[in-house]
Amino acid sequence: MNGSIRIPAPINEPVRGYAPGSAEKASLKARLAELAASPTEVPCIIGGEEIRTGDVHEIVAPHDHSLVLGTYHGAGPEHVARAIEASREAWETWSRMAWVDRAAVFLRAADLLAGPWRDTVNASTMLGQSKTVHQAEIDAACELVDFWRFNCHFAEGIYADQPRSAPGMWNRSEYRPLEGFIYAVSPFNFTSIGGNLCGAPALLGNVVLWKPSHTAVLSNYFVMRVLEAAGLPPGVINFIPGDSVAITDALLDHPDFAGLHFTGSTGVFQMFWQRIGGGIANYRSYPRIVGETGGKDFIVAHPSADPDALRTAMIRGAFEYQGQKCSAASRAYVPESVWAVMKDSLVAETKGIAMGDPTDFRNFMGAVIDEKAFRKLSGYLDRARDADGVEILAGGGHDDSTGWFIEPTLLLAHDPKYETMCEELFGPILTIHVYPDDQWEQTLELCDTTSPYALTGAIFSEDRAAARHAMDALRHAAGNFYVNDKPTGAVVGQQPFGGSRASGTNDKAGSAMNLLRWISARSLKETFDPPTDYRYPFMGEK
Ligand code: NAD
Repeated sequence: MNGSIRIPAPINEPVRGYAPGSAEKASLKARLAELAASPTEVPCIIGGEEIRTGDVHEIVAPHDHSLVLGTYHGAGPEHVARAIEASREAWETWSRMAWVDRAAVFLRAADLLAGPWRDTVNASTMLGQSKTVHQAEIDAACELVDFWRFNCHFAEGIYADQPRSAPGMWNRSEYRPLEGFIYAVSPFNFTSIGGNLCGAPALLGNVVLWKPSHTAVLSNYFVMRVLEAAGLPPGVINFIPGDSVAITDALLDHPDFAGLHFTGSTGVFQMFWQRIGGGIANYRSYPRIVGETGGKDFIVAHPSADPDALRTAMIRGAFEYQGQKCSAASRAYVPESVWAVMKDSLVAETKGIAMGDPTDFRNFMGAVIDEKAFRKLSGYLDRARDADGVEILAGGGHDDSTGWFIEPTLLLAHDPKYETMCEELFGPILTIHVYPDDQWEQTLELCDTTSPYALTGAIFSEDRAAARHAMDALRHAAGNFYVNDKPTGAVVGQQPFGGSRASGTNDKAGSAMNLLRWISARSLKETFDPPTDYRYPFMGEK
């Protein structure tokens, strides 16, 4: 098609409120009831075909183990081989398709998700991952719509970036997709991340094998269905849930493996990097490795901090989605003077948090994702009960009789290196260290050096000079840094997301920086009137 085509200017998808009595609440409630009452059978989707492998696993609600939401069919090595073959076939046309046609698929997927599929993807996220309606809405609906729309806009900018041409020639950059397939491995905690890890490389013309987390299969399957409904050709993205080790073993040694798009824990990412490095001589190209991983996200308050703003940020930052956000506040440094003013209200508000089934809209928190997370978090709480140097100020309880429930917990650590100040817990546990007001400088140093991660962090200060000083002192301590705000809730197109140090490659999901990893540029030089004699003019005389 001739024409300098422009992508519609993206705007962030408005967040729906689901207020009592609203039509949007009634519609979502109806879908929740349907999905809970009629279990979904999730197949693998390979080359556009639904494959029922027979390796069947149950999908249950974290907040109610007895609620079986469906089953999924796990992929084995033979299905992985089939998916690689399907992706290779799809690559022939998809990698050559005009980028505006690929963008049209994702723009349409965004509109389908914002419209007719919104309730299904939100409801499956609420039920399968135990998110409240607000947490599902900002993730599964709004953030994924934003990823798909904004990525088209960023791709437009990349394709438009062209080199200069000297007289007599025409220089061009062609942004080719990678030669081979991308392996997208997504975490349980954000439905949107699943749709972005597979979607971003595919938008640039790549083909993808997508392995969702086994605890997010239901919502991720519906995301795959949205992409199909939007016209994604068969084989461009192949959906292969199942045993992560077996699937990885079956594909990582393939010569066509061209890139890893991973979000998950640090240990798993480091394993991937080592495996890929070990096999480097066998690949057709050097695989791109993009990984966003763990965090030990902090809030540091200056003596000038507003106690009410600080308290609200601590509660929302630490306890929303049960602290299972990579960006969740999990350690806080509060000066004695501010602590004296805010301690009682912080403890009282934490104790008052409503936790339970997220389909009851009065709850602020649901359950943690599975038994493994429950056991790990209960262990931290049980140790804190007996340990020296730490006190439980609120919460500390756990109950697995109906679902995997961990109480929102405040720990007060006298030892700033107590284990819960240093390690990623991934649960609703906030550890606070109270420091003498005159130790601001030392506290910034402590914050910077306590953990190997550098994902998100926040400082609270009403004193501009102190805020500036903290921004400088903690320059490398967080890839997403907040001043007088909670360290969670990054929005696509507004705060590109990712961390450095052990937290990942910091390729900033939902930005052009990420998309650049999925292309391999070809520089083209065309000469209009080429020379016909190899001799240069200076050779005309002695
Ligand atoms: P996880 O590492 O357990 O799993 C992530 C993915 O890796 C899943 O698909 C899983 O099946 C797969 N996986 C696990 N072990 C594997 C193995 N041995 N071989 C191959 N694949 C394997 O992480 P999770 O519990 O799903 O998610 C939570 C983690 O993700 C936390 O550490 C959190 O900080 C991180 N996270 C980071 C970001 C970010 O942007 N930095 C965003 C979300 C989550």
